[in-house]
Amino acid sequence: KHAIDNASEVTVRSALFEGVGAAVIPDYTGLDAYRNGGGYQVLERVRSGELDAAAIADKALEAGLRGLGGAGFPTGTKWKIVNDLPGPKYLTINGDEGEPGTFKDRYHLERDPHRLLEGALVAAHAISAVRIYLYMRDEYPAVLEILKTEIEALRAAGIITTIDIELRRGAGAYICGEESAMIESIEGKRGLPRHRPPFIAQVGLFGRPTLNHNVETLFWIRDIVEKGPEWFAAKGRRGHKGFRSFSVSGRVREPGVKLAPAGITMNELLNEFCGGMEEGHSFKGYLPGGASGGILPAALADEPLDFGTLDKHGCFIGSHAIVVFSDKDDIRDVALNLMRFFKHESCGQCTPCRSGTEKMEHLLARGDWDAAKIADLDGVMRTASICGLGQAASNPVASVLKFFPEEFGK
Ligand code: SF4
Repeated sequence: KHAIDNASEVTVRSALFEGVGAAVIPDYTGLDAYRNGGGYQVLERVRSGELDAAAIADKALEAGLRGLGGAGFPTGTKWKIVNDLPGPKYLTINGDEGEPGTFKDRYHLERDPHRLLEGALVAAHAISAVRIYLYMRDEYPAVLEILKTEIEALRAAGIITTIDIELRRGAGAYICGEESAMIESIEGKRGLPRHRPPFIAQVGLFGRPTLNHNVETLFWIRDIVEKGPEWFAAKGRRGHKGFRSFSVSGRVREPGVKLAPAGITMNELLNEFCGGMEEGHSFKGYLPGGASGGILPAALADEPLDFGTLDKHGCFIGSHAIVVFSDKDDIRDVALNLMRFFKHESCGQCTPCRSGTEKMEHLLARGDWDAAKIADLDGVMRTASICGLGQAASNPVASVLKFFPEEFGK
């Protein structure tokens, strides 16, 4: 779809087959400009001993910073757990961003990559990590090129000292966004999720304690230290804390990454940040959390959007990937399409997911929307799959059953 003319086709092909060299690099804030704006002063304060792991962890907790890859685990708590464990330890950064509809990490990295790199160096120093592994989606050639250039610039400027940053390219597997599968992939193995416990904080990369963060989580560290946790916390609505980067796509007038308050409702996001619905479309429903977060109807667009707020509907916000549907969209097609995606991306390690996604896709595709049969299969996949992919794969079809009964019985 990018091959609009011969020139762009050549560029895309080069990027696909010859690595990242052919990527078109957007304008972004490089090292000098970032330092001129006060960048890397927080890192200096950490290295000088003015701020230790406990102090930053407390600030992150006070700010309400949570894992923005989708899990929402409190960042400060994670730092404290890993900081108390014996070394050697590692910091891994998950930039795989494979959840359908999610493009916020790319947005930030193509504009201000040093905010992530400073946050990573701060976190690594604070918990005494020996090395940072940055696992980046290979489908983002410009981001890879930017990171390669800027990590080299940090080495040349003497800002990267003992703790080095190693950039690793993912190979397009959705499951490598799951932290233990990503660790297997970094170790050079097939990206299969591990059984838990033990959690990767205790037994992670190369069997060592590992602090793993999403790109956007570390992106906010500098601002939280510089401007204070209360600055970040105050950005939310309805008692929720902080900003969220919503990736919005679908039938809206102005799609894109929207930096909006945690706890905003879908109706507010749509009208205040996205210019409302596209001309000629009326709001029917939305994915609140990419492919796996379920489907909500327009009637539930006044719920606050944040971690934990949608659980009562069998949905979740995850990586804040919002896809908006209108009266012109068939919600059954949406659910079938998402099930096909999960079937394709299942790593095949466990039967409930490997066979369950295939069976479910088969039922939906042949029009056999038998509620009892689907609920039975859904129950097995949800309770017996090893990781979140199999456990959440049937969320969209369960949502159709619950919220769009008129579509279900078509
Ligand atoms: Fe692999 Fe699916 Fe099992 Fe996860 S649930 S381990 S993706 S087969």
